[in-house]
Amino acid sequence: MNKVVKFGGSSLASAEQFKKVGAIIRADDERKFVVPSAPGKRSSDDTKVTDMLYACYELAEQGKDFTEQLQAIKDRYQEIIDGLELKLSLDKEFKGIEKNFKEKAGSDYAASRGEYLNGIIMAKYLGYEFVDAATVIRFKPDGEHDAELTNQLLRERLSGVKAAVIPGFYGAYEDGRVKTFSRGGSDITGSIVARAIKANVYENWTDVSGVLVADPRIIYKPEGVETITYRELRELAYMGFSVLHEDAIFPVRSEGIPINIRNTNAPDDNGTWIVESTCQKSKYVITGIAGKKGFCAVNIEKEMMNSEIGFGRKVLQAFEENEISFEHVPSGIDTMTVFVHQDEFMHKEQKVVSGIHRLADPDSIDIEADLALIAVVGRGMKSTRGTAGRIFSALAHANVNVKMIDQGSSELNIIIGVANADFETAIKAIYDIFVISQI
Ligand code: ASP
Repeated sequence: MNKVVKFGGSSLASAEQFKKVGAIIRADDERKFVVPSAPGKRSSDDTKVTDMLYACYELAEQGKDFTEQLQAIKDRYQEIIDGLELKLSLDKEFKGIEKNFKEKAGSDYAASRGEYLNGIIMAKYLGYEFVDAATVIRFKPDGEHDAELTNQLLRERLSGVKAAVIPGFYGAYEDGRVKTFSRGGSDITGSIVARAIKANVYENWTDVSGVLVADPRIIYKPEGVETITYRELRELAYMGFSVLHEDAIFPVRSEGIPINIRNTNAPDDNGTWIVESTCQKSKYVITGIAGKKGFCAVNIEKEMMNSEIGFGRKVLQAFEENEISFEHVPSGIDTMTVFVHQDEFMHKEQKVVSGIHRLADPDSIDIEADLALIAVVGRGMKSTRGTAGRIFSALAHANVNVKMIDQGSSELNIIIGVANADFETAIKAIYDIFVISQI
């Protein structure tokens, strides 16, 4: 059985980090397929190589001189090569890159060189085979990733290969033109490779010891999560949790391969397991809390609304006509509220209001801005009584006014709407009641 190991940019930012990665890979014989990101930041004020490449290519595209910028990128790789004492020259590669930049090969091509070059170094350092992602990760003409063709190409290419490095983040169209995933896309490549080789685990190595119960910018040193299901993670990711690229779940999910988030700087930590299903209870009733600010509530009132067939559809049509997606629609007997993203809605609000009047003929419409949504997620909620009660008494004690409550039928999460100004207080209150008071 083999493992796919993906290393993020901060894990590969310098020769010193590369050495830690080398030690991790050599510590386990099953770590045979490696997916590297481009070198990330060495310190908080540093620049990621991917961003350097985008900036450099922008100059090339404008027909300006980019020699200095390209040299700075080359220097970053040379520092790694020298630090690892490798006999490797990237001169030829950089000549080719310079030529392609001048010929305006595209910003996707430019950005992909970060992973490509790091992959070459990694392969040399480990003595593994280098497999250019452009030859195995395929995109359709409309820019969508071609999952099935990729799986077939990868399986063919990797059959009989004992150990390989496949750079993350990019692939190519059939004609060979390079295309990248969205930012953070090396996570997706790792998942795709794990699916293709039917790995027993997809290890995703980063700079934190896994998923945390809450945002560390709000909660001081929050607890870690040992095991989380794909569905829980998706709920939390949607609300702003950013451990993994959200599309990275799908390829492994279809094969039931677990993802293990690990910390390159603390390799002995178990990290977090992301699994399809588990009988392991989470340590607390809740698995995580996440949220986002910047929502608007559009309150629509109409007497006898409950008995008017088609009212909801007509209201939502006004949003659809203006291409605004809605988040939640809690309703009462004579009222219906539509939660939308404030920045999407703001410049279209009067069009939407007149649309609702035209289509649904309500008595009144009232808009409330500056709201936040908080998702309290946990597979344990289904079998635990009183979770909602505990959340709301904690919020009441913290003087937080709850504007909206929504519990999906899956009983996997409870969504709470509060004023933006109460956002942090609310998260702290919920964390305290479920985590701090349980420790
Ligand atoms: N290097 C790319 C980025 O900075 C992709 C990745 O790291 O996953 O977004």
